[in-house]
Amino acid sequence: MRSIAMVDLKAQYEKIKPEIDEAIHHVIDTTAFINGPVVKEFQASLEKYLDVRHVIPCANGTDALQISMMALGLKPGDEVIAPSFTFIATAEVIALLGLTPVLVDVDPDTFNIEPAAIRRAITPKTKAIVPVHIFGQCADMDAVMQIAREHGLFVIEDTAQAIGAEFRFADGTVKKAGTIGHIGCTSFFPSKNLGCYGDGGAIFTNDDNLAGKLRSIVNHGMKTRYYHDDIGVNSRLDSIQAAVLNVKLRHLPEYAIARRKAADAYDAAFKGNPGLKIPTRFAKSSHVFHQYTLVTHGIDRKKLQEYLASKNIPAMIYYPVPIHLQKAYLNPRYKPGDFPVTEALCNAVISLPMHTELDEEQINYITSSVLEFVNA
Ligand SMILES: *Cc1c(COP(=O)(O)O)cnc(C)c1O
Repeated sequence: MRSIAMVDLKAQYEKIKPEIDEAIHHVIDTTAFINGPVVKEFQASLEKYLDVRHVIPCANGTDALQISMMALGLKPGDEVIAPSFTFIATAEVIALLGLTPVLVDVDPDTFNIEPAAIRRAITPKTKAIVPVHIFGQCADMDAVMQIAREHGLFVIEDTAQAIGAEFRFADGTVKKAGTIGHIGCTSFFPSKNLGCYGDGGAIFTNDDNLAGKLRSIVNHGMKTRYYHDDIGVNSRLDSIQAAVLNVKLRHLPEYAIARRKAADAYDAAFKGNPGLKIPTRFAKSSHVFHQYTLVTHGIDRKKLQEYLASKNIPAMIYYPVPIHLQKAYLNPRYKPGDFPVTEALCNAVISLPMHTELDEEQINYITSSVLEFVNA
């Protein structure tokens, strides 16, 4: 059996090696390393795939979030609502810009931001909501957009983990994650569902004015060379990364199928087990399974992780500490117990290997090993 990785980028590369190598060499041959035609090509392909008017490539997903908040003109003191159960980047950029992160709890089944909790957190200072489509499944965007419309708030979707996921609105309309709010942000970090071979990110919007502002900010606030209308940053997707992404975007639909197939096999093995809650499939969204995350019940999670490690099966805890209990974010506003769902999840979740190259033998070995421990 091939050794099991949390994310097997090596096995994935082996399958597309000729395409990738050719694409990378083409960039080197042309030496158009920055803002080359390959970047424009990727931008256009991603716009088409997502059915969105504008894709603005940038250096990483964290930058994408920061630049979005800058483009919306958010000012120190403005409050931005975000989930307490997410990767730190979501809250980090809010704090970094001097805005006030207002955290809210998540749904125990989907792990996504809880719309009723958003409503309770709104004050006259609230300016924006950042729903995170955690682990590959969309937040309840029908509800989030409704709340945003009622209160005149901006919505910035953090779709770093859910590129390609589709949300179905009550009226039957289907939209891709990241194209629903005012702005969508994603990451092309290697382990993401659409990952490059280094750092990368992108911002999406259907708003032409916002797109102009975003394009200016990623490039030093400059529309005409050496004339700076905005305070910006330097955040670029380099051509070699765009070349890799051009190849991998073509494979993204089949990658989603491979991930779903692995998730279905995990589900079948664990369904009904009293010690393990399988991921809930949210009726309004497809699931692209960035992570396959179980909620343990009445079993020693740390010992399970150690047992799996002893059998050369990696397993990870995403995430062990809620944002409001992270040292850098301790705040008189919050105390332990404020977000009971998030806190319970942080103590109980465990994510199994999930990637595009898992074969039946590996999955059987993983599921039987988990069950050996859980049923012991
Ligand atoms: C990965 C990730 C980011 C940040 O992306 P980088 O490219 O690593 O900066 C932001 N939000 C979420 C939810 C993520 O998973």
